[in-house]
Amino acid sequence: MDSKEKVVVIGGGFAGINLVKRLDRKRYDVTLVDRNNFHSFPPLFYQVAASGLEPASISFPFRREMRKMDNAATYHMGEVKSIDVAGKKVVTRYETIPYDKLVIATGTTNNFFNMHDLYKRVFTIKSTGEAIRCRNEILDRLERASICRDDDERKKLLSFTVIGGGPTGVEVAGALGEMKRYILRREYKSIPPEQLVITLVEGSDRLLHTMSETASRFALKYLKELSVNVVLKQSMKSYDDNVLTFADGSSQYSGMVIWTAGVTGDSPEIENGELPRGAGNRILVDAYNRVEGHDDIFALGDIALHCDEMYPRGCPQLAQVAIQQARNLAKNLNRGMMENEFSYKDKGSMATIGRNRAVADLKHFQLTGVVAWFVWMFIHLISLLGMRNKLVVLTNWVWAYFSYPTSLRLLFRPSRYPLRSHQ
Ligand SMILES: Cc1cc2nc3c(=O)[nH]c(=O)nc-3n(C[C@H](O)[C@H](O)[C@H](O)COP(=O)(O)OP(=O)(O)OC[C@H]3O[C@@H](n4cnc5c(N)ncnc54)[C@H](O)[C@@H]3O)c2cc1C
Repeated sequence: MDSKEKVVVIGGGFAGINLVKRLDRKRYDVTLVDRNNFHSFPPLFYQVAASGLEPASISFPFRREMRKMDNAATYHMGEVKSIDVAGKKVVTRYETIPYDKLVIATGTTNNFFNMHDLYKRVFTIKSTGEAIRCRNEILDRLERASICRDDDERKKLLSFTVIGGGPTGVEVAGALGEMKRYILRREYKSIPPEQLVITLVEGSDRLLHTMSETASRFALKYLKELSVNVVLKQSMKSYDDNVLTFADGSSQYSGMVIWTAGVTGDSPEIENGELPRGAGNRILVDAYNRVEGHDDIFALGDIALHCDEMYPRGCPQLAQVAIQQARNLAKNLNRGMMENEFSYKDKGSMATIGRNRAVADLKHFQLTGVVAWFVWMFIHLISLLGMRNKLVVLTNWVWAYFSYPTSLRLLFRPSRYPLRSHQ
């Protein structure tokens, strides 16, 4: 008879996959459940959205990762719909999985701040699927603009607005700026570059407000160099019929809006019990990532909220936090007791703007420009799972740096029959 405890991990993002890799399989029978059959790398989603990288080069099949582990854990595909806390069961779209210990590592989803139905009109990049959808729309617009004979129509097709001046918004806007600067001239010669207008809207008084003033200042400078219009201290209130309306009553036409303005905790519905929640719908945990009031349920990464002296509003929602929490929990679970309290070691943060500019706040100093870009590239490369992916991404980057390959701008649309139209 199997006497191992059953650990079910929901979500194979940075937190989930790092935990699963480290759990002692002699002690635990581990099941990873994720709605996708691959681990993805969100820091590079913007590159997929801007046709800089192929989705496969930043996606890692769980089954391959599991094969590499000794005494492999099991992967189950399925979106977890609910957790039966009293019955200790996880209910997915396809099955019910019992657990002795449960780890919730489901990350976050887009927050539209009660603007109902906004999700239907804007584009987002919180998952590989969303990044591909974004890429297809950008390419579709460029193709249509290149054959459009009406000046006003073409300008409408080419008006892009990015909402949110955090790292993702800055990176997407920078990538669009690069497209305008280099790709249009080379591949879409019928489009006058000045007709492609990119606007980045940020509610606070500076870009990258979680980073240093230096990072904000240089990000603004680099975006301006890439002809991105940056609007600060402006909040979007609505987006209807392609018109953006702002808090001060002003409005602006935008053909495509990319929403990067906020996230909220994304976890399944809870049956027969409750899990305590804090700001951003995150699950409240103690210093061992144990959900408050539940000894056998843990939460890790973006979905978990633990406030301490150093981080009174909780740790930042970053990959490093998720990875470090997973490592700490694996240690505690493998020892069979909660010994090590989690404490986040901040290794710095960075953002890239275009293909050779970046800003980086490291522990003791700040970097900008090309040097920061090389550091950014190096850090992202070593963080990618798998040698094959590292090589593919490096090759793509080096190749793209010199050639802007057209192969990445292929417009694949899923369909059952040959398409006649794609409304
Ligand atoms: C566009 C973008 C850029 C970013 N850039 C950076 C960066 O440069 N540096 C940095 O440190 N951080 C960055 N982040 C943040 C970083 O990606 C997150 O902090 C990190 O991914 C959190 O890890 P996680 O494991 O908690 O969640 P995630 O990595 O989001 O993983 C959650 C997993 O859970 C799965 N899941 C969710 N709900 C369910 C469900 N109900 N059932 C089954 N499976 C489910 C998802 O499929 C996913 O695999 C970025 C995020 C985004 C979106």
